[in-house]
Amino acid sequence: MNRIYNFSAGPATLPLEVIQEASQGVLEINGSGMSILEVSHRGKDYDAIHVETRECLLRVLGLDPEMYTALFLGGGASTQFALLPMNFLAPGVTADYINTGEWAAKAIKEAKRFGTVNVASSSEDAKFSYIPKTHSLTPGARYVHITTNNTIEGTEFHALPDTGDVPLIADASSDIMAKAIDYSRFHLIYAGAQKNAGPAGVTLVIARKDFIAEAKDDIAAILSYKTHAKSDSMYNTPPCFSIYVVGLVLKWIEAQGGLSVVEARNQEKAALVYGALDANSGFYEPAVADPVDRSLMNVTFRLRNAELDKKFLAGAQERQMDGLKGHRNVGGMRASIYNAFPVEGCKALADYLTEFAVANG
Ligand SMILES: *Cc1c(COP(=O)(O)O)cnc(C)c1O
Repeated sequence: MNRIYNFSAGPATLPLEVIQEASQGVLEINGSGMSILEVSHRGKDYDAIHVETRECLLRVLGLDPEMYTALFLGGGASTQFALLPMNFLAPGVTADYINTGEWAAKAIKEAKRFGTVNVASSSEDAKFSYIPKTHSLTPGARYVHITTNNTIEGTEFHALPDTGDVPLIADASSDIMAKAIDYSRFHLIYAGAQKNAGPAGVTLVIARKDFIAEAKDDIAAILSYKTHAKSDSMYNTPPCFSIYVVGLVLKWIEAQGGLSVVEARNQEKAALVYGALDANSGFYEPAVADPVDRSLMNVTFRLRNAELDKKFLAGAQERQMDGLKGHRNVGGMRASIYNAFPVEGCKALADYLTEFAVANG
């Protein structure tokens, strides 16, 4: 088997151990005589996986299972852009949103359908190349929504805004479980699994039980957080296989030593890549100039001479590095180096960045 360095932004690289175990589960799960793809979601084999994955997720995030629950939903993080305001806003009710990029803007657009949106701060004035540090928050707002890591632009919140008594909500699709932060700062966190937590197909929604209890009742059952919380994410058929693989990723994180070990490795990886960019600053321009706001997960940069883009990408392919082309809306380059991305891959990229700059500078 040949494994290349996959810098894709999502779906993204997974730990090899996880893929190997999942491939066994595809053949047969728990000596049941059935594949994980075949077992009933109401049967004992799947049920054990479902319950264990929820418990493990809360444990890894350091959240009290008495106070928090975790839901496994379909529809991607994009569905949460609508579900959150649908469940908590109404005409005349205000939510604060911090606008830090394309995904945040999409969340804002959906929220406006259900209530009043106050954009408390925005970095749109500088192409979303920084994280705003001051916000005009609405006293008594229903919630404050942030995008913890801006996958397309390459910025990340490394300090959370102080929202006082107002519930803090996060789209953490691209940096959930990347750092050992205090997850109890959030009332609700959602994340499509396919960046840092597993394969596509499941969205994690981790929320305080008392917050879900305050959600509205007069909405379609399938779109209601209360429905999914009450039925333990079994109101309809859950994405069983994706949840199973998320469970394997969580066990892998625990086996590594938990989030603090994962974070230390992520810091090391990001330092290698940013270090090579900054050391060759005449040749490369990092999209995020201030190190304080740089993402540990998505390193965005440009070649100062865009005519060399094609050559750069072709040379990367020759070195078994794939997925470095930037998001189609912003161009340039992007190296996505999520939890499962190996340190050696970051070393290989750092070497390539330096060698390419020297050869073409
Ligand atoms: C990828 C991404 C999304 C969209 O996720 P889907 O699961 O494809 O809907 C939303 N927010 C952020 C921060 C993302 O990185």
